[in-house]
Amino acid sequence: NGGASDSKNIRVKLVLLGDSGVGKSCIVLRFVRGQFDPTSKVTVGASFLSQTIALQDSTTVKFEIWDTAGQERYAALAPLYYRGAAIAVVVYDITSPDSFSKAQYWVKELQKHGSPDIVMALVGNKADLHEKREIPVQDGMDYAEKNGMFFIETSAKTADNINQLFEISTSSQFSPIR
Ligand code: GDP
Ligand code: MG
Repeated sequence: NGGASDSKNIRVKLVLLGDSGVGKSCIVLRFVRGQFDPTSKVTVGASFLSQTIALQDSTTVKFEIWDTAGQERYAALAPLYYRGAAIAVVVYDITSPDSFSKAQYWVKELQKHGSPDIVMALVGNKADLHEKREIPVQDGMDYAEKNGMFFIETSAKTADNINQLFEISTSSQFSPIR
């Protein structure tokens, strides 16, 4: 699969899936460049970025990140990106019930057609929009737990939990190293 190791240097292929507009591209830009651009452009097809982080034990992890487009017309392309991925990050927007349903669709698709050992993370993004929240934290947690996924809420706008998302999603990558 997408994990590869060289003593303490690990390479991890990670794919982001989720409805259009939930903030996938902003999450990646925040993680890779430390920026938030409120005028960011809609992703066409998919885009690729990489970023290397050092963990506390001095392991380095190089993320090879595939940021997909959420639009229906690209859905048929999704398997090209999630096949071979070690980690699938499924994103919804905490202010959008539709996007939470769409996230569940992606989880089912990954369960049916993804690699059996793919690590999945469920991410509720736009956590800064408290007053517009429609999906309680507990709903995200419950769904993730039932489906054996990591769960975290993030804000690409404030940077809250963005690095943590990438760090926790690697925690199952280490033993055994794949
Ligand atoms: P994508 O289609 O999933 O890649 O979504 P984008 O990354 O293009 O973001 C869609 C819209 O949501 C943009 O207008 C962003 O500025 C906005 N957005 C993304 N992340 C956040 C966030 O954490 N908080 C807020 N308030 N807005 C966000
Ligand atoms: Mg995008």
